[in-house]
Amino acid sequence: MSNTPSIERIDTFPCTYGTDRERMSFLYVRVTATDGTVGWGEVCDSYGCSYAGVIGHLIDEVFAPLIVGQPLVSVDLLADRMRLFTRRRLGDAWIAPQARSGIEIALWDLMGQATGRSVSSLLGRTADRVEVYASSGFLEEGPAEHHYEGLRPLLERGVRKVKVRTGPEWRSDLDTLRKLRPMLGADVELMVDASETYTLPTARALATALTEFDVQWIEEPLPQSERAGIEALVAHSPVPVAYGEHMFGLDDALDALRRRQLDVLQPDAATAGGISEARRMAMAAPAFGVRVVPHVCSGPAALAANLHLAASVPGIRLIEYPPTLLPVWDTFGTGAALGLDAIDDGHLTVPETAGLGVGIDEGACADHPYEAPGARVAGTTTGLPDRFVGDR
Ligand SMILES: [Mg+2]
Repeated sequence: MSNTPSIERIDTFPCTYGTDRERMSFLYVRVTATDGTVGWGEVCDSYGCSYAGVIGHLIDEVFAPLIVGQPLVSVDLLADRMRLFTRRRLGDAWIAPQARSGIEIALWDLMGQATGRSVSSLLGRTADRVEVYASSGFLEEGPAEHHYEGLRPLLERGVRKVKVRTGPEWRSDLDTLRKLRPMLGADVELMVDASETYTLPTARALATALTEFDVQWIEEPLPQSERAGIEALVAHSPVPVAYGEHMFGLDDALDALRRRQLDVLQPDAATAGGISEARRMAMAAPAFGVRVVPHVCSGPAALAANLHLAASVPGIRLIEYPPTLLPVWDTFGTGAALGLDAIDDGHLTVPETAGLGVGIDEGACADHPYEAPGARVAGTTTGLPDRFVGDR
């Protein structure tokens, strides 16, 4: 193994990108090997990486010293090292696994460079393309026509599955959805994301109301930590219930699966601890009759990581694709195209080139320096009602 490269350094690139709608932050991770090759990874906190500076510091101070100097023999061995060395102090949930995810993805990218194979090929490739669903905005943001115009470019690329978001004023949201539904066409499937807004009685009322729309799932109707309430909802919900973008690894997913706290599992390789950990979660779900649809809501490396995840698990047929992030992928991404032109018949092609097939433009990172959220509520569109206060 004398020719095996080792990890020479790990660098973090926290960035903030402003769209017309909001300012959103991202954290890219670059791992450099002793032979000069680099791998890119990314951290997602379920909505970009709002506190990218904090997690970047966690990587610099805690995880990089555990990896630098180690030979690149097995990604899983290095991922295990990061987890086992910190588990009893920093824990197994939230920012520690998020930080580990960024490094793990970069290590897979690096392993792909070293072997000349794509990440999904290294894992066992099961698909060359994966269907995407359009992950749209909050219904309160405008009339049905506004939402249809945002979705139209994707519908024109053959996308036939659409997710919309409800907020505290869910009855008026459903009025908007009632107008939007016929615009989309009868062959388009609908999903609803509730972003942890409701108490159990409201979630029950909304789930019942959604039977009118034949939705494929209602996502995060209660705060994700309220597992007992979620369990009560799932037991009698007339529509499937989805959770997973705030789940951190197999133990967490298995606990929810065993208690029947979800019908659809949504792991994210950039959140849950990495591609391998998200695969373990995905592999466990079919035994419980649970569908797996990975979460995607960050920059180009996170999208690519989840695309390779989907392309290496037979049961995954669909991933999330938020069109509001198209300018982000275009600005920061290099390598394989991930934009609208890359969607054919509603499917995104899985890169075949070495590693993720997607890199990060360091110049773009320098052009978009990180801004800490300060008093702004991270992950909330400025000027919209604060949906994190729950029922009204
Ligand atoms: Mg969601």
